[in-house]
Amino acid sequence: MTVYDVAIIGSGPAGMTAAIYAARANLNVLLLDKLAPGGQIVNTFEIQNYTGMGTVNGAELAIKMFEHTQELGVNFDYGTVTAIQSEESVKKLICEEGHTFEAKAVIIATGTKPRMLGVAGELNFAGSSISWCAICDGPHYRNKKVIVIGGGNSAVEEAIYLASLAHEVIVVTLFDLTADPLACNKLRALPNVKIYEYHDILEFLGTDKFVGIKAKSTKTGEEIIVNADGAFEYIGLKPTADAFKELGIVNDYGYIETDAFMATKVPGIYGAGDIISKHLRQIVTACSDGAIAAQSAAKYIEKLN
Ligand SMILES: Cc1cc2nc3c(=O)[nH]c(=O)nc-3n(C[C@H](O)[C@H](O)[C@H](O)COP(=O)(O)OP(=O)(O)OC[C@H]3O[C@@H](n4cnc5c(N)ncnc54)[C@H](O)[C@@H]3O)c2cc1C
Repeated sequence: MTVYDVAIIGSGPAGMTAAIYAARANLNVLLLDKLAPGGQIVNTFEIQNYTGMGTVNGAELAIKMFEHTQELGVNFDYGTVTAIQSEESVKKLICEEGHTFEAKAVIIATGTKPRMLGVAGELNFAGSSISWCAICDGPHYRNKKVIVIGGGNSAVEEAIYLASLAHEVIVVTLFDLTADPLACNKLRALPNVKIYEYHDILEFLGTDKFVGIKAKSTKTGEEIIVNADGAFEYIGLKPTADAFKELGIVNDYGYIETDAFMATKVPGIYGAGDIISKHLRQIVTACSDGAIAAQSAAKYIEKLN
């Protein structure tokens, strides 16, 4: 079996940047993902804050990043890593699909997944009338009415996108809008958007067919029903580090603890991107982490040899 110099789990911006830096350090690199390369940005309509790109479509940026890894000879493969067996000189990656990979160092860049509200009716419509991906499912709602749940950057950006397709977009958020002021102003100015701030979602309504939501004002206690054809949830993210808990590198909040060199407390295992404990989860910070993790892995491997 090939023993790679470095195996990178997750091919989002963090993993792909780590792969680029590791390949440029002359390492034999495996980039693994359970899905197609790109990570969360594949499903992001417009990115407006990645240095030098102005406004760029997420999928286009993902393709550019992936092509960059391929120009440098990075090996991409599919696999859902469920565990890492760590020995001093080699780490074994166990995949759900039944195969294993070996590497001298590992960079974990598995990112996050969307959080669910956990209220009545949600499971009945999850994946049909309730979606977490406006770019994937938004086109179903052309000229229809949709609800966007949440008030942070993702909710506001995706509500702006949905307003370009849907006849009407209703934003329901537990607090005020907390996204970038520029994005909030843009959303508020759209004629087909209505915003309910300080409203808690109580229930998704409908028996066979989704018909809307019931929400309650946290200020007045008044309950409202908003009818719509579909709903999009953007209420935060959950780390995807369950597979690495046994290594003792995951904190109580589910994120991987790293130092300034992206090193975990297990020698030869690094973390990068949204999966690590940090303050700002963005593409530019994920890329930065990936670059640092790859440099650290290269130094670790040099010492091993
Ligand atoms: C709707 C939305 C809009 C956003 N807009 C912006 C924006 O405008 N600007 C900005 O800077 N940021 C934005 N972000 C945040 C940005 O997408 C993330 O910060 C960035 O993608 C993090 O990159 P990452 O590589 O750490 O993780 P991710 O992009 O989450 O990639 C993780 C990868 O790991 C894979 N993976 C997970 N578990 C496993 C496993 N066990 N085995 C194998 N593979 C696995 C996943 O399939 C995925 O491909 C947005 C996020 C969302 C959700």
